[in-house]
Parts: sequence; C-alpha cells; structure tokens
Amino acid sequence: VMRNYRVTGPVEVPEGILAAMTRRMISHRSAEFRGLFTDVVKRLEPLFGTSGTVLPLTCSGTGGMEAAVASVLRPGERVLVVELGYFGERFAEIAAHHGAHVDVVRAPWGQVVAARDIASRLAEHAYAAVLLTHNETSTGVIAPLREWAAAIRAVSDCLIVVDVVSSLGAAEIAFDELGLDVAVGVTQKALACPPGLALVAVSDRALERAARPGGRSYYLDLAKAAEHARLGTTTYTPALPIVHALDAALRAVEDEGLEQVWRRHAHTARRCREAVRAQGLTVVPPEEHCSPTVTAVRLPSPDAERVRDELATRHDVWVSSGRGGWKSEVLRVGHMGPVPVAEAEACAEAIGACAREAGAAAEVGAAAEAGTAAEVGTA
Ligand code: PMP
Repeated sequence: VMRNYRVTGPVEVPEGILAAMTRRMISHRSAEFRGLFTDVVKRLEPLFGTSGTVLPLTCSGTGGMEAAVASVLRPGERVLVVELGYFGERFAEIAAHHGAHVDVVRAPWGQVVAARDIASRLAEHAYAAVLLTHNETSTGVIAPLREWAAAIRAVSDCLIVVDVVSSLGAAEIAFDELGLDVAVGVTQKALACPPGLALVAVSDRALERAARPGGRSYYLDLAKAAEHARLGTTTYTPALPIVHALDAALRAVEDEGLEQVWRRHAHTARRCREAVRAQGLTVVPPEEHCSPTVTAVRLPSPDAERVRDELATRHDVWVSSGRGGWKSEVLRVGHMGPVPVAEAEACAEAIGACAREAGAAAEVGAAAEAGTAAEVGTA
C-alpha cells in the first residue's frame, strides 16, 4: 500500500522538485545566483497578485510573521489581531513580544470574524496595522479576505498584514488589488517544496515603515532584504537548495496554469469534504468558509488520537491532530500541492472506518465497565 501522507505540512515533495535540490551550490553573490533569484522572485509575483516586492527569507513561516511585525511596527504602536484559531493567536503573541499594543477580535474556532466587526473595531482607535490569517490551518477555515480588505480600507489606512502560509499557491491573494501591505507565505505547504524559506510580499508603504529607525530584528529586517533583493541577492546566505526546489515548483505551477492550480485545490477539498460527510462525519466549518487546503473533521467520540494512530499503523494514512482544545475530537486532513482526489477521498474513508471501529470499541468498553460496576454494586 502506498503511503497516503495527508498532514498539514511539511507536505510530500514530488520527485522532480526533490531532484532540483541536488544542483550544485553557488555563491549568493555570483551572477548565476542573481539570475536564479531574480527569476524566481519575478515568478512568485502572480501567486501573490503583486507587481511589487517579494522577499524570500531563510526561515519558517513563523520567521516570516516575525519579520513582518519586527520590521513594520515599533514598540507602543497599536495593532488589531483578527484571531480565527491557533495561528492567529501566534500572530498576537509575536506582536506582543515585540512591544506592540495588541487588541484582539476573535471568532469561535471554526468560524470567521465578520468584516463589519473588524471595521468597527478599527474605527475605535488609530491602528498602525491589522494582522490577519487568510487560511487558519488549525480550524480548516479560509477567511473572506477580499471582503475583509474592502471593509478595512473603508475605515482605515492602517497596514494590512496577512498570514498566507497555508493559502499561498492554493488560493488567490490579489495583494495589489486588495491593497495589502505584507503577506507571509512558505514553501512547504501548497507549493510542495521542502521547508526553509518564508516568502514575503511587501508594499512600498510597508517598506517605508520598515526603513524607520528602531527595527526590532537584526536578521529578519525586511528593509535590508528589499535593498539586497533590488541587487538580485539576499541579505544573508539563503537556503539555496530550497531556492532550486522553488524554481522547479514554480515551473510545475506555470505548466498547469496558476488559476487551474487554485481551482484544483478547491475541487480536491470539496471532494474530500463530500467523502467525509459520506462517512457520517462532520466537517467543522460551515461550507462557505471551508479551506481549500485543510479539512477539519469532527469525530463522534473523543478518541481522535487513537483514530490517528490506527490510521497510521493499519492504513498507512497520515493526518494531523486537532490543535489545542480540539485535540481529542478533531483530525485535520491536508490536501496541499498536487494531491490526487482519490487520495483525499481514500483518507476520508479510512477515517470513517477507524472512527467506527473506535466508537464500537468504546461502546464495548463502556458496557464492560458498566457490567463491572453492576457486579460491584450487587456484591
Ligand atoms: N501560520 C499558519 C496559518 C500555518 O499553518 C503555519 C504552519 N502550520 C504557520 C503560520 C507557522 O509556519 P512555520 O511552522 O513554517 O513556522
């Protein structure tokens, strides 16, 4: 049986992309690197929907989030964080860590914050930035980014900073059109590359803010990164094999067609949800907010950890556990990158089979316990 690896990242990397990483190492100050880097950065632009600056940083997604916060904010500046789950909470922690005055507007896990609620909060104070999560990987929710951005822009000219870690390459971002200021993506999710680079789109306004004195990170400095990018290089030594992998991954996206790649992710996700429901299980978010990259499945009884183990050991199907309070009741299926629909569906079917077995075992266990208690009671 083939391994069906459906975790939420890092995802399995296609052979052709892995092979690209065996290219020889070159200096990041060489003409050859300048050619490669300039080309890759240019080809990332359509994924964000920008004709502006895209900066690959050598760090994970969290490093990209920290680069955004530490570069464009200064201690004491006020930010509004829109929290839909675990990664929104992380954004707020990073902002607080760097001395921002953090206000939060949040939705219950599995839901979204209404655009008008963001707008009314922004109207209360002068905010330097609003921090958003486009696709909340912990809950399987994709936010209505277009609606949010329009509502924000109607009341505030604050910077709009967006975590697009689990949507970049799987859904439209429309960075320029929506007037976004920073968007933070990664290589290891929908682009199906290994981890190692954060991919950060930055507006000119955001770069002006970053260029002010007092930036909070030496290494993750977007202003310095942008200066170097203009010269076709990175501030420090890049994760070069991942740049090569990204080159190959972008070629795959270009060959398939970017909009087709987005449609394919939406389609695979929809088929996965249908297969989940056909098993009698619940997809947590309402249909209109369901993510194209992550499906959050609620199990009927609190044995998600056991079901996950069974999936791995008996079916060779690998999924992610629920985060935080969802650990015992929710499993998360990742369908990022070139995932065959049949694999996403097979994954849902295996979850159904294991959940039924676990449920039956729990009933037998409960009956046995009830039996023991009855015996004790009569003794
Ligand atoms: N934001 C979101 C929405 C994510 O899904 C993740 C990773 N799962 C991160 C941020 C953090 O990325 P990393 O693990 O690469 O630091």
